[in-house]
Order: sequence, then structure tokens, then C-alpha cells
Amino acid sequence: MLAHGDKVGSDKKTARKTSSNLREKLKRLHLTRREDLLLHLPLRYEDETRLTPIDEAIRQSAGSVQVEGDISDCRIQLRPRRQLVAQLADASGALTLRFIHFYPNLQATLSPGNRVRCVGEIRQGFFGPEMVHPRCRVVLPDTPLPEALTPVYPTTAGLAQSALSKLIAGALAGPPLAETLDADTLARLRLPTLQAAIHLLHRPPAGADAEILEALSTRRHPAWRRVKLDELLAQQISLRQAYRARRGIGAPRLPAAGRLAEKLIARLPFALTAAQVRAVAEIGADLAQPYPMQRLLQGDVGAGKTLVAALVACQVIEAGWQVAFMAPTEILAEQHYLKLAEWFSTLEIEIAWLTGSQKGKQKQAQQAAARTAGLVVGTHALIQEGVNYERLGLVIIDEQHRFGVQQRLALRQKGGAPHQLMMSATPIPRTLAMSYCADLDVSELDELPPGRTPIRTRLARDGRRDEVMAYVRKRVAAGRQVYWVCPLIEESETLQLQTALETHAWLTDALPDLNIGLVHGRLKSAEKQAVMAAFVAGELDLLVATTVIEVGVDVPNASLMVIEHAERFGLSQLHQLRGRVGRGAHESACILLYADPLSQLARARLKIIFEQTDGFEIARQDLHLRGPGEFIGSRQSGMPLLRYADLELDVDLVETARTLAETLLIQTPEQADLHRERWLGGREELLKA
Ligand code: ADP
Ligand code: MG
Repeated sequence: MLAHGDKVGSDKKTARKTSSNLREKLKRLHLTRREDLLLHLPLRYEDETRLTPIDEAIRQSAGSVQVEGDISDCRIQLRPRRQLVAQLADASGALTLRFIHFYPNLQATLSPGNRVRCVGEIRQGFFGPEMVHPRCRVVLPDTPLPEALTPVYPTTAGLAQSALSKLIAGALAGPPLAETLDADTLARLRLPTLQAAIHLLHRPPAGADAEILEALSTRRHPAWRRVKLDELLAQQISLRQAYRARRGIGAPRLPAAGRLAEKLIARLPFALTAAQVRAVAEIGADLAQPYPMQRLLQGDVGAGKTLVAALVACQVIEAGWQVAFMAPTEILAEQHYLKLAEWFSTLEIEIAWLTGSQKGKQKQAQQAAARTAGLVVGTHALIQEGVNYERLGLVIIDEQHRFGVQQRLALRQKGGAPHQLMMSATPIPRTLAMSYCADLDVSELDELPPGRTPIRTRLARDGRRDEVMAYVRKRVAAGRQVYWVCPLIEESETLQLQTALETHAWLTDALPDLNIGLVHGRLKSAEKQAVMAAFVAGELDLLVATTVIEVGVDVPNASLMVIEHAERFGLSQLHQLRGRVGRGAHESACILLYADPLSQLARARLKIIFEQTDGFEIARQDLHLRGPGEFIGSRQSGMPLLRYADLELDVDLVETARTLAETLLIQTPEQADLHRERWLGGREELLKA
């Protein structure tokens, strides 16, 4: 039995047996403390509380049953393939036990004469009724049946269910887990204590009625809800604490004077949207605080986030501090650089430009400029070694979902604790935002600038290419420009490049009177720049591109996009790509070419992108299709993912956890710490990145 807080396997009795091997496996399941074992809950249950006579079990022949009998024969057969075959009989009948995969010790278990209990499904084999790979154990006659259902735990290769069960049973026998919620709260929420919930989930009573079993297996039972609430609460506490800790760190106060921003607004050919005005004000107010801002600016593709960024940059620069503006691709960074240089051209702001492709003298000169420039624009070269800022006040990260945690960390280490503004066009559905992003403040651009015409989306089978070409010609004749997006080939960059070259070749062939350019990730940056500049200037009619144009690219005269093999792209990628058109006043269209046969998932995605234009709705449905793990990209975000709570089913619990976390942190902070440690101990370093 393990004492509270003990490491698994560190008490004397089990120390010898618990090889480092076992500990390694437990660690893989994140089971290092007693609490971890208690919170490692069953996937499902098997009913071993009853024995079924073999003849009855054969007649029933549905679902898993438990039988008990004596082994009369056991041998290894070599044909048709090596397998272990044993005969089991009780007073009522007999059946065959068959194992295609087995360890040598199984032969000992199934020695003739042994009495054995087997759990499995019976099927009619060629030689009569049989169980394939039943769970077997030797018993003495009259060994009592268990009184509870048998839990089946998630495990890992080489760690037997029985070994894991035994460890968990040991943990359950220990002292109860301290309760972190008070009785009033539990009564109000109609939830059991944690101890009661955990016991019930590990050991549901035998003979529990069907309704209870159903609630347990669908995880709607109050015991499950208690566990899920606990898990969500730990997450909320952790994020809230990170949020508060930040308030203890000093950051420069950068109050708004507004002179530069006014000048910028005065030279724009359009008025700000109400949403932009609101976002600028929210961010501006944060910048005037003496602790570092961490705010997410969300807005659908084309909502005008860059301008918001430019306006808040004005506030920082005016206060005498520097702004670093980081974009995930060189093409996008360059676009921002050009746009901002144009917007700021009469404001006397020094702008530096940094990318990874700069070398030698040029690089040195740019790095020197970055030291003091008011605004530094670039790719993640901005956070590389050798780049230093004298007075970094604000970091803006565009398309932040494209950056990993490590990069965000590196950036923070560059200059004390600058304010941070993250921008994203991949909207985070509300429940995700409430849970995973609870430590961020969020501003939202919930309207597009006026005068945009909606993008018409068309789906076309690959075979209808001729019609598509005719349409392209028509658009170009009307003075518009076209993007042609090459198929995505995730497995191989070389193949992807080859496809891009081929696509460019046949389009040049098929449309000889058009000026056609090509841009892909392998081009030198000067080449990329030249192609993009030609497209922006209208010298190219059609731009063949890989997904390097996925984010941010802004050419208002481009009003048609063709995406080849659209079925290979993810939903947010399609939405981002499509967002490259519909940026001007011209009617825009997006043609999604696809090849049959479509997988069910691909069909579902294409249907969504065809029917929806609203990024939030698309994200919501994407979440539904993929589940939150993939959606948020656990590896990329570094977030420990939720094990039990389901952000779609348990929205009400997310809400409850939020308010509860606040209360707990104020009223009983030690309880909050205890609670967080219990669930996240050792797993949350990256959570605060
Ligand atoms: P995103 O939010 O996708 O980053 P951008 O910042 O690239 O969007 O803006 C899309 C386009 O809309 C740009 O051409 C930009 O200049 C323009 N734009 C931004 N704000 C407004 C506005 N208030 N009215 C009209 N056009 C605007
Ligand atoms: Mg953008």
C-alpha cells in the first residue's frame, strides 16, 4: 500500500519488484504519484461478478461472458499458424480456447487439470464453439467472485491490465483524498465528494442497475461529472494563476497620446470599422498598465487586424518604445513590411526588416538597425540570437497559431517582459477559448470592413477543368487576377515542389496569352519578393502558388482562387486560402477542385467550406469533426490536454469551473494550489508560455 504522496513503487515491499522498467511504463501513462493512480479512471467495465455455465454461454452467444471450468488439454498447434489451443469443460459443456499471440507463461496457466476462469466472447469456430484470446486466470475451486464490476484501464504496451489494477487497488486502500470543494458547493451542484466519486468509478457496485451502468459508460453519471469538473477546475486555476502572476511582473506603462495614430488614420482612404476602434481602445488601455499585456486579437480573415496592429504600434512608438512585429512566413512578413512602410511613410518612424535569409553584411546592418528602430518587422529571425532591442515595449505576433510555444518563450526572453499582442484568424471556438486560453484577454473584430462582396464557393470534380479554365480566361479578360493553389503533398516537400513546377508548366501551356508566375517555399527570398511584387503590381494575371500564400497575403485585385485537390486540405487551411480573395470591391469566387473517391471526412469538410463563410462557424464545425486535441495542436501549444472532460458535451462544467476557480483562489488559495497540483503536478510548465 502506498502512503499519500509516495512515488509509485518506492515503498519497501514493492521496491524490488517494481523494476525501473515498470516505472518507465507507468511514467509513460503519467502515473508517478499515488494521486495519479487514483485519477487514472477506467475506460469501461467488465462484469465478472457472475459465472455462466458453458452450455448457456454457448446458447447466448452475445457479448462478453465469464465461464469457469477445468482444462483437459493444452497444446501448441503449428498449422495453419502457430497458436496455443486448450480445451475447457464444466459440468454443462465444453469449449475451445484459442490464442494466436501468447507468452510462454500462458501455457502454465492452461496446464491440464487447472481450474480456470475465462472472460471473453464465444463464437462458432470451425471445430465448434471457441473463445479467442479470453482473459484467463487460475482459481481454486470455490474462489469467491468479485463483488464489483471489473474496471478496464487505459494502459500501455507491456503493462498488463492486472498489474495496473493491482497498483490502483493499492492506492484506493490508502487514506482518502482531501476534498477541495466545500459541502455547500457540492450540494448546490448536486455532486458527490471526490473520494466517493473516485471509489464509485473504480469500483461500481455489483448488481448496479442498467440505468447507472449506462450513465457510467456514457460518462454522464454525477461521479463522472465530479471528476470532469475537477479536471476543468485545475486547468482554470492554473491559467488564472498564470494570469495573476503576470500582473506581478513590471512592464513599461505606455499611455496613449494619439498624435501618430491620428496622423495614420487621417491618411487612410477608408474609415475604421467600429470593431477596429473598439479593439484599438482595448489594447491601448492594456498598454497603459504597469504589467505586461497578453491579449489575443481575433478576427476573421480580412477583418483588418494589420491596421489595428499598426495603430497600437503608434502608441508604443510615441511613448518612446520599440515594437517587434513577427509573422510566420517570409512572404507575409515582407507584405507587412511594405504595407507598414507605406502607412508610416509620413510619420518619421524608423522601420527595420529582419528575415532568416539575410546574410553577412546585410544581416549585420539590419540587426544593428533593429537595436533602436521604432518598428522591427520580420519572421522568427526577430527572436534569433544576436538580435537585441534597446527598449522593446510591444511584441506583435501575427497568425500566432502558426508559432510554437518555444518561439513565444524565446521572444519573451528578448527584453524583460514586453507587452504581447497575438493575432489570429483561426478563431477559437468559445469553449476552447474559455478553457485553453483562459489566461489571455481577448479582443474580437466581429465585422468585416464594408463593401466586401461575399465570396462564391464552387465545388468541381477534377474532370471539369476545361470549364474552370474558360472561367479563368473570362476573369482575366475583365482585368482581375487569379490564384491557382497547387495540391498539398504532406509527405514530401520534393514531390510538392515538383507538382508546383508541373502545374505551372501546363497552365503556361494551356493559357499562352496570360502572364503566369510561380511562387513556392523553395524559392530564394529575392525571387519570392520579385514574384509577389509583380503580382501586387498587376503584371501577372495568374499566380501558381503552394500554401506559402496561405496566411495574410493581401492583393485586393485578385478575385478568383482555384484550389486543386481541395480534399487534401484541412478546414482552417481552406478558409485561410479562400480568404485571399474577396478583399476588394470585385465579386470574388473560389473554385474547389476535388478528385473522387472522397473519404467521408473529406466530404464532410468540403460540405462545410461550401456552405459556410463565417470563420467562427467553420471553426466550430471543425472542432466537432476533429475533437479539441487536434484542433488546438497539443504538441504545438504545449497544453496538457483534457483527459475526461469533453468541451462539447460539458460546456456547463467549463462555465462552472471558471467561476469556481475565481472563488477558490480568493477564498481558499491553499485549496486551489492543492487542487491544481493534484491534477497537473509536473505537467504544466509549458502552460504558462
Ligand atoms: P486580416 O485581418 O485578415 O489580417 P488585413 O489586415 O490583411 O486582414 O486586411 C484586409 C484588407 O482590408 C487590407 O487590404 C486592409 O488594408 C483593408 N482594410 C483594413 N481595415 C479596413 C477598413 N476599416 N475599411 C476598409 N478596408 C480595410
Ligand atoms: Mg493578417
